[in-house]
Amino acid sequence: MKALGSWTECINLAVEAYNAGSFGIAAVILEDNGNVVARGRNQLRDNLESCNTIRMTPIAHAEINALNNLPLQRQKDKDLILYTTVEPCPMCIGAIVMSKIRRVMVGSADPHAGSVGLLEKDDYLKQKGVVAVFADSIVEELSFSLHYISIKRDLRPNHPAFARMHKRYPAYAEKLDKLIDSGRLIINKPLETSELVQALE
Ligand SMILES: [Zn+2]
Repeated sequence: MKALGSWTECINLAVEAYNAGSFGIAAVILEDNGNVVARGRNQLRDNLESCNTIRMTPIAHAEINALNNLPLQRQKDKDLILYTTVEPCPMCIGAIVMSKIRRVMVGSADPHAGSVGLLEKDDYLKQKGVVAVFADSIVEELSFSLHYISIKRDLRPNHPAFARMHKRYPAYAEKLDKLIDSGRLIINKPLETSELVQALE
């Protein structure tokens, strides 16, 4: 399996979210040296025992849970980095801005609900100085794929998110559609990270 570096735990946690029946999205907060200090995953649709305090509510997003799981003594630490597999939504961008975290690594863009653009558009958000960096290559494709197969499994086929995701990542989306249609990727059963990496190769 290709090395995912600092993204390994975040991607594995997104797979856990997907397998549990929620959206395959996760966030992990790291120190500069790569130590994980907090984890959170999407838990909109499952009540399994996980790292999350917020479950089964519309705000049970990965970043909210990761920020909420940050130990009290680290809440004011400005040197931590938040990794999230999918571009934060407006709620999560707001929560990141209100936290002390100023560096965000984003696995893949979310052309439906992603709101990193707000950091530049709103004066209050802008003066907070949050910097978001988007990943590329395998991290981008894996992050997008986990998000895409989640909505493919759980949302109605004519949901507007599909057209936006196809437009933003046409090659990734078409590849996934083909893998699913040919039965090489089965979206109604649990996946392992290595299996998904292999299918995408
Ligand atoms: Zn969110």
